[in-house]
Amino acid sequence: MNIIIVGGGVSGVVTAIRASKSNNKITILERNDKLLKKLLLTGNGRCNYFNEDRRLSNFHSSDNKLLEEIINIKNLDEVLDFFNYLGIVPKIINGYYYPYSNQASSVRDALIYELNRKKISVKYNYLVKNIEKKNDKFIINDELKCDKLVISTGSFAYPKTGSDGMGYTFLSKFSHNIIKVSPSLVQLKSNSKYTKKLSGVRSEVEVSFYENNKFISKENGQIQFTDYGLSGICIFNLSYYVSRSLPNNKKEIRINFLPFIKDNAAIWFNEFSLSHNKCIANLLEGILNIKIVNVILENLSIDKNSYYQELDFNTKNKLIESLTNFKFNITGSLDFNHSQVCSGGVDLKEVNTSNLESKLISNLYITGELLDITGNCGGYNLENAVVSGILVGDDLSDKS
Ligand SMILES: Cc1cc2nc3c(=O)[nH]c(=O)nc-3n(C[C@H](O)[C@H](O)[C@H](O)COP(=O)(O)OP(=O)(O)OC[C@H]3O[C@@H](n4cnc5c(N)ncnc54)[C@H](O)[C@@H]3O)c2cc1C
Repeated sequence: MNIIIVGGGVSGVVTAIRASKSNNKITILERNDKLLKKLLLTGNGRCNYFNEDRRLSNFHSSDNKLLEEIINIKNLDEVLDFFNYLGIVPKIINGYYYPYSNQASSVRDALIYELNRKKISVKYNYLVKNIEKKNDKFIINDELKCDKLVISTGSFAYPKTGSDGMGYTFLSKFSHNIIKVSPSLVQLKSNSKYTKKLSGVRSEVEVSFYENNKFISKENGQIQFTDYGLSGICIFNLSYYVSRSLPNNKKEIRINFLPFIKDNAAIWFNEFSLSHNKCIANLLEGILNIKIVNVILENLSIDKNSYYQELDFNTKNKLIESLTNFKFNITGSLDFNHSQVCSGGVDLKEVNTSNLESKLISNLYITGELLDITGNCGGYNLENAVVSGILVGDDLSDKS
């Protein structure tokens, strides 16, 4: 059987390796002069490929029931087995899996070794521009023919790696419904006058996303303030919800600068101030970056040299509110050039969840980020890419 895989990213390459169990003739078409360009950037060059925390809540889709049919404990076990088969020894840091070598290139090289061992052919510098189906054959760029076609072209995210969203166009032409695609795992923009003043500051916080004053989700971790807004893994994870919210809805990130206080922050702060006879600015500097202290005091017009115990009841309440619920208006996110992944994609209702074959076009398969599956930071997107490659590849090898 003649199989063509469009796109030599992780999901396409894993598909090829798994499909080659039988005597299939497999060709990967890759527009770049190299395979797996994006993989090298993952995990800051260290490739965070898996996570010990296997809860489904680390993934998002418009259809959680179908999501679970694809991403489940059994299929995640398959991912670990696959990395084991590749000979990648894990280094596990706080539940995050990296190759023990600390190099994404180790994973790339192991994948390429398998492709070569299985004699899978790759056409480099081959841009697929057009796909048609005639008489049960797929015809690519009016010149290549195959019986089975796998579209693994990735999303719009990081287009400099080769993924510029062409897969959505091919699939739309085959009448697939593409659920709105937006940047995700990305920095958020804010028009707050305080972002510039806080630029460069990092702080361990709890952050919550509110849409039209309704709580949506929260995360703990390090926030980074930038000229344009907010960054950090906790912000990246919340960006999924920002990307799905309606344009005109009011969006807010609320920051708790005192996440270590489990009970009543007002009582804690009162005791803290009583046990340290310091003016308010010096008191706060014992907890927070000086830029945060200045912004909070300026915002409430509190004199830096005043003492907490001297403040009136209202001002004390406002100070505690600012320390635990500081609001940043969110105007959107940075674009696809900055986003690690995209939310949205091919509607899961239109694929068979056991093998990711299109329900609309027989012998057409869809993998990786093209699907309406988005993972949080922590290895979940590579898990999705590998799961999909395994499901499609195994199906292609079983059927032949
Ligand atoms: C900076 C960064 C860091 C990341 N870090 C992590 C991490 O640590 N952990 C994690 O789990 N995820 C991470 N991700 C996300 C993860 O890399 C992706 O979700 C995953 O690689 C998607 O795989 P894919 O096979 O669907 O698509 P891609 O890897 O995007 O591959 C698509 C391939 O198709 C090719 N292609 C596209 N169009 C055509 C065409 N028309 N003709 C021919 N070829 C074409 C492209 O050149 C590309 O090689 C990161 C992403 C980025 C950008």
